[in-house]
Amino acid sequence: MSVRQLAALLETLPVAFVAHDSHGHVVLWNPAAEALLGWSRDEVLGRASPLPAAVTQAPVPASPSHVPLVSLKTRSGEVIEVAAASMPMTGHEASAVALWVPREAGLDAPRLRALFEHAPDGVVVVDSKGVVIEANPAMEQLLGCRAGDLTQRTVADFIESHGLPSTTNPFGVTNAETLLLRRRDGGPVTVRLTTAPIGVNRTVGFFRDITGARRNELERRLFSRVFETSGEAILITNEHNAVIAVNEAFTRITGYAVDEVLGKNPSLLQSGRHDQAFYASLWDTLKTQGSWRGELWNRRKGGEVYCEWTTINAIRDAAGAVTNYVAVFADITAVKDSQAQVTYLAQHDHLTGLPNRTLLRDRLAQATGVAQRNGQQVALMMVDLDGFKSINGTVGPYEGDTLLMEIAYRLKDAVREGDTVARMGGDEFAIVLTALDSPAQSLAVVSKVRAAIAEPLTVGGQELSLTASIGIAVFPQDGDTANVLLTHADSAMYTAKEAGRDTSRFFTEAMNTRTLDRMTLANALGRALERDEFRLQYQPQRPIVGDTLLGVEALLRWQHPELGLVPPDRFIHLAEETGAIRAIGAWVLRQAALRAKAWNLSVSVNLSVVQLQDPDFFTHVTAVLKETGVAPTLLEFEVTESVVMKDPVATAELLGRLKALGVRLSMDDFGTGYSSLAQLKRLPLDRLKIDRAFVRDVLSDPADQAVVQAVIAMGHALKLRIIAEGVETQEQRVLLAGFGCDEVQGFLCGHPVDPEEIDKERRR
Ligand code: C2E
Ligand code: MG
Ligand code: MG
Repeated sequence: MSVRQLAALLETLPVAFVAHDSHGHVVLWNPAAEALLGWSRDEVLGRASPLPAAVTQAPVPASPSHVPLVSLKTRSGEVIEVAAASMPMTGHEASAVALWVPREAGLDAPRLRALFEHAPDGVVVVDSKGVVIEANPAMEQLLGCRAGDLTQRTVADFIESHGLPSTTNPFGVTNAETLLLRRRDGGPVTVRLTTAPIGVNRTVGFFRDITGARRNELERRLFSRVFETSGEAILITNEHNAVIAVNEAFTRITGYAVDEVLGKNPSLLQSGRHDQAFYASLWDTLKTQGSWRGELWNRRKGGEVYCEWTTINAIRDAAGAVTNYVAVFADITAVKDSQAQVTYLAQHDHLTGLPNRTLLRDRLAQATGVAQRNGQQVALMMVDLDGFKSINGTVGPYEGDTLLMEIAYRLKDAVREGDTVARMGGDEFAIVLTALDSPAQSLAVVSKVRAAIAEPLTVGGQELSLTASIGIAVFPQDGDTANVLLTHADSAMYTAKEAGRDTSRFFTEAMNTRTLDRMTLANALGRALERDEFRLQYQPQRPIVGDTLLGVEALLRWQHPELGLVPPDRFIHLAEETGAIRAIGAWVLRQAALRAKAWNLSVSVNLSVVQLQDPDFFTHVTAVLKETGVAPTLLEFEVTESVVMKDPVATAELLGRLKALGVRLSMDDFGTGYSSLAQLKRLPLDRLKIDRAFVRDVLSDPADQAVVQAVIAMGHALKLRIIAEGVETQEQRVLLAGFGCDEVQGFLCGHPVDPEEIDKERRR
């Protein structure tokens, strides 16, 4: 047989076959050799062999079971171990050698078993019905069950949203799918599943846990979005405090481009307005508490000094070492005057930065004013997420907040520049669409909003798709004041909720059962006084330290035979609309005056805007003072900012006259409206009452702390006493005392109670 004939024969052999002539040049190189060794035949034929002498001169094996193993390098440089059996080719001055990978070097049963046992991914072998034959330890760990627990269970027991097992895939899923597994403890795990058939009626599935990757992905996306779009400047440094990233807002505020600050120390922004001690204390706080906030005076590239409200956080790795510092700041030069700051903080939602209820009202009023002049319309949409409470309950408050922030971004994206998106509280958002030519235009926005909300998001490793119930009221046909529009959009939203989730409804008079309620309520209210259904409760006011009774606030209660106890927030507004408040207010004033005299104690009475605008009110007050004989100094009138702002000049004039009678005056719910310092100065006030909304979270919310501190400082500057409302805990009281607050009112020092209770305390 010639070498050529031999070559033809060896062409199809699965064993690598190579022959060399007496000079060691390659004369034969079959396809199996190409596959095993990497060199193509053209590269080696007639050339010096790329194989080592151990191969070219391998000894002829004594018997088939004694084939020597040799190591060699393939073309790609990989070292492989092969069996090499050499044979002399007599008459051709050539020697041939056969090379193959011995069985032991491949994946035999014991090696496969080791792979199965130690694989980091969950591996499960099932039969054609999806019954588990075997699962590896990683899989048991993934599902939180004990060794052997999975055997004989079917995949449907632990794969969520499992389809029916099909003949093609007993896992019942398309290959390479992302799906949820149910852990034994109920918790979800996100995995990617890859399956492959092995042998007769057996399929193997590989489960890779991607829960962490998912969360990182979400966080990364959120972060980069916040980073890019934030209106606040963000500056990130490394552990040596060298700048590694800044965002667009940073450039806008400071004037420095990215590459002008990269690698530099942020101290290049320093203005020289703060001394070394200031920075030392900043760093001390940062190191001990992990974060610092406050005002910094810095210098822009152009030289201008500006004021920024800054938060710096130290980011630590798992071992506790600082890896980065992140500074976020807003240019507050423009809002530097303390009143403007108070207003900003009081008008924005602290979590999402969206306008809050107060600012929304304002924008709504503005929008309707403009629309009126231009003959256009304004739509108010109330958007309430469906089932958010239960989601929040499952994923936890941190993830819940993340979710609300994400929704806030999306809503803002979905509307035009001039429209307002506000957070009303909890999971409720409101959108004002300005300058519409017809209500139908708002429908397009409704679909955009729904699509934006429905876009899946991953929270706490779970993929969720949210829906919302949407109520819409349109100016002018559904109401011509902000209050009425809000009420009507609200009831449209409730109708949408009742109609099933993921629904939107326009307000219509007919479907609005709550309007019907109002009618019933208004009728009942008209008769309440003559039926003697009102009474007053009194809530103690005490000094910030000690339990002296300084005075009480009279709070109105309506006990209706069928409706039960109706809270003032539900009927005062209505009484103002119907005018019933005049008679009711007169009754309250007389009762309160009688008590004040009997107790010889200051009694505060809340005044409605309708009373203040009543031309007979002043005369009425003098009459009550005369009739009851109470010392005027024992009566205090509480007015709110919004009441004053209705007509600042006339109100200031009236309050001045009342003050001249000797009665005291206080500003109620302070911080929620927008009275300016200048206006406040013009009013003859004795006290400011800090609204309950700021006291509630004063321990945990730095923004609320800022408001409270500013109000106290400002009030004291105007020589006013400051009383905090809604104080419920000793901790709040202590903090407020530290801020310099003078007095407290709240459940901590006494609930509103019947007059007999105050009698008792007076006698003690
Ligand atoms: P307001 O004048 O700010 O009265 C304080 C409200 O806070 C009262 O609610 C009181 O019960 C509640 N409150 C007091 N301490 C705490 C506390 O520690 N925690 C909490 N969560 N709440 C606390 P109420 O009695 O429901 O009155 C609501 C509002 O109705 C009053 O707010 C006032 O604006 C108005 N109102 C009450 N009585 C009259 C009245 O005779 N005439 C007029 N025009 N308005 C009234
Ligand atoms: Mg009050
Ligand atoms: Mg109040």
